[in-house]
Amino acid sequence: MNASRLDFDPIIADILPPDREVLVCPPETPVFEAAGRMRVAGVSSIVVTDDSGPVGIWTEHDALALDLSSPAVFDQRVDTVMSAPVRSIPSTATLTDAAHLFRERHIRHLLVCEGDEAQKNGKGGDRRLRGIISLTDVVLNQGIEHYLHFRTVGTLVGHESIEVQESDTLSMVSRRMREARVDAVLVVLDDGGRGILTERDLIGLIAERHGDTAVGGVCTRALFTVPADASLFHVRNMMNERGVRHIGVERDGQVEGLVSFADLLSGIELAYVDELRTALEARDSALASSQRNLQLAEKVIQTSLEGIMITDASGRIMRVNPAFTDLTGYLPDEVIGKSPAVLQSGRHDKAFYDRMWATLSREGQWRGEIWNRRKNGEIYPELLTIKAITDEDGEVTHYAALFSDITELKENERQIRHLAYYDALTGLPNRRLFHDRLDLAIAHAHRSGGRLAVLFIDLDHFKKINDTLGHAVGDQLLEVVAGKLTDCLREDDSVARTGGDEFLALLPDIEDFQPVADIARRIIDSLSRPVVLEGRELVIGCSVGVALYPDDGMDSESLLKHADIAMYRAKQSGRNTYSLFTPAMNEAARRRLDLETGLRQAIEQEQFRLHYQPVVDESGQLVGAEALLRWHHPEWGAVGPGEFIPLAEETGLILPIGDQVVREAARQAARWDGRVKISVNLSARQFADPELARSLVAACEAVGVPGTTLTLEITETALMQDVDAHVATMMGLRTAGFRFSIDDFGTGYSSLAYLRRFPLDCLKIDRGFTADMMISADARAIVSATIALAHNLRLRVIAEGVETAEQARLLAELGADLQQGYHHGRPTSAEEFARLWGLEKADRAR
Ligand code: C2E
Ligand code: CA
Ligand code: CA
Repeated sequence: MNASRLDFDPIIADILPPDREVLVCPPETPVFEAAGRMRVAGVSSIVVTDDSGPVGIWTEHDALALDLSSPAVFDQRVDTVMSAPVRSIPSTATLTDAAHLFRERHIRHLLVCEGDEAQKNGKGGDRRLRGIISLTDVVLNQGIEHYLHFRTVGTLVGHESIEVQESDTLSMVSRRMREARVDAVLVVLDDGGRGILTERDLIGLIAERHGDTAVGGVCTRALFTVPADASLFHVRNMMNERGVRHIGVERDGQVEGLVSFADLLSGIELAYVDELRTALEARDSALASSQRNLQLAEKVIQTSLEGIMITDASGRIMRVNPAFTDLTGYLPDEVIGKSPAVLQSGRHDKAFYDRMWATLSREGQWRGEIWNRRKNGEIYPELLTIKAITDEDGEVTHYAALFSDITELKENERQIRHLAYYDALTGLPNRRLFHDRLDLAIAHAHRSGGRLAVLFIDLDHFKKINDTLGHAVGDQLLEVVAGKLTDCLREDDSVARTGGDEFLALLPDIEDFQPVADIARRIIDSLSRPVVLEGRELVIGCSVGVALYPDDGMDSESLLKHADIAMYRAKQSGRNTYSLFTPAMNEAARRRLDLETGLRQAIEQEQFRLHYQPVVDESGQLVGAEALLRWHHPEWGAVGPGEFIPLAEETGLILPIGDQVVREAARQAARWDGRVKISVNLSARQFADPELARSLVAACEAVGVPGTTLTLEITETALMQDVDAHVATMMGLRTAGFRFSIDDFGTGYSSLAYLRRFPLDCLKIDRGFTADMMISADARAIVSATIALAHNLRLRVIAEGVETAEQARLLAELGADLQQGYHHGRPTSAEEFARLWGLEKADRAR
């Protein structure tokens, strides 16, 4: 029954007309007398009461049930013809409740009793009668006059209009009225005109004990008519003016039917409820539209759950509604007459309000989120709509502001977003957010022509832990893993949990798979370290699959799929490893991994050897040898330093390797009795090692050779990496006797001003110049200038890569002090070297 109940439904007690007398009579009252009282009082019903209270009601409509053809009918007791039980409604019920009862029971009157909901619809009893409410009262009290404008009277007439002939008797006519459920009939007059007979007329006739005569003699012969296209509003006014409750509707000069006052209202009652509901939903538009809707708006304003504030054109607050007070804490008296600025939070600058006003004056409305301040100082977000209300001339007369507190909404939104995008356990992004980020990163990589990697990380043995130790431990472990993964990644990378023990990582902006391989390695190392949970040491591990954009896929879906496939491959090839999707990449990565493992073994098993290449003067005399590292892997055979030295530098393995080199070179120098100066290559990494000086000195001391037997070669590029530190290191080493050569000179961009700062002895011209020199005059000029310049800095010049006699002759001409190259001798084993250069005797002498 409350289905269409409106927020602002008034209760019946509030609309009951205070001055309206409730007509009552005892049960034994004769019908004609009851009718007489009704006629005098001008009401449409009489309540029949006994000592206990109302027992029934007799209405104009009930009068239709009387058999007017029998004269005895007028003396019948009213309680034999009344409607009973009498329908009543408690005074606390709402208007909508009443409207429903009227519609459902097809009744037009309800007794209003003191009482509460429990007695609703109850039978008459000892309830105190408060009054009578009719359908008309209900409709009139809904303040819906303006709706009468919207419909024409023509839409009301039709099927329900009954016509009777002038000669028909009253009893016939009243029966037809009852059957057709109408309260009036058209009387077709013999002269072609139309008359009318109503229920109320019948009551008058009953009061008079009128005989069952032809209606022509008793009906109202002058029928007021209105055209069918007249508005209900017009019709209502006409009825009021003429003091009638029925009116004829004319179309094309013909009376088409009758419309009663009740029709007028009941026809729109439903429409009213509907329209009001629509209006509530679209209260903004109701507010902004014309003056007549302001009446409706008025109701809306009072009862709206949204805060509403109406200002005049200058922005002074004229009124606010109860919801405004609820939301802001300000009572109407505290704000009326003031500017809405009292609500400002201070969070928005002047420009914000300027824009708001600009929009408002341009478009007549503004809508947005705004922070305001409650009376208690609390700042809250609200969704605000401001509408300019204009008069007929388009002048702004008022502004209406509607707002609702969206604190909760915002919080919910945040939570929903969090739930939607993050994994509840680890707080990491979930698959959806990861997808979003991946799509973005792909778009970015596409624009910039860059690369990115997707890592599919699957925990090994997680299920077992979960099953044996329980979910609580499993959950804790996942949280630890999430933390570890985050720690392994760079700042711009992201990691997501996408399944029970599945994680995804996104590494944007990568150049090749190298950094990816490093991160994958880091992840594997980190996750394979045991975790202590509740005093128990848990060992897990992971398998990682890698897919690269654009190499392995152009969109997120294929990248994820391929990372997944790669992960499975990793799992198959023995856990705790990673695998790249592209076989070629995989091959390279595997090779690198193998190489790294191989290097570690080579260090342990001392698989490295040194070969020596002679350095000669212009007469071809041996002045020294460069020690060059050789690695003979038991399976792979010889691996060139060009292949493994970069990896050794990257992994830091160059330190232990360099240590072996230095010790072996010192040993060899000792074997050769210090007669051959040996050059040793040092990488930048070794140079930055604070242990370098100590280990060099130790190596020489261990075999009893002076530092001067060793020359340290460092490339130009490495030297320039950290000039000050290197200068300091070299100074220290120089006092220990070591000499320095600058290697591969010409391949870097060193300025000679810098070179001055280093305690150098030799400069080695890169073999590229030696080769070019023969075909390019420029290269020849460079070599010549370099030699001159080095001599200026008191450096000896060694030309590298001398492969031919011609090169040797030309270099000598250009002034190179020493030469090195295949022409003078290839790098060979120490034994071979000794044999070739006649060092065996000394060797044997030791
Ligand atoms: P590098 O210091 O410039 O060594 C000279 C390289 O030139 C050697 O290559 C040598 O075999 C090669 N070479 C010598 N004469 C000729 C020639 O006439 N023609 C041509 N085409 N090449 C010639 P290798 O032995 O392959 O060494 C490559 C690089 O590896 C070295 O370049 C050096 O930078 C590095 N390296 C070698 N041993 C060590 C070491 O013990 N420690 C460090 N840190 N680096 C080393
Ligand atoms: Ca070298
Ligand atoms: Ca070199």
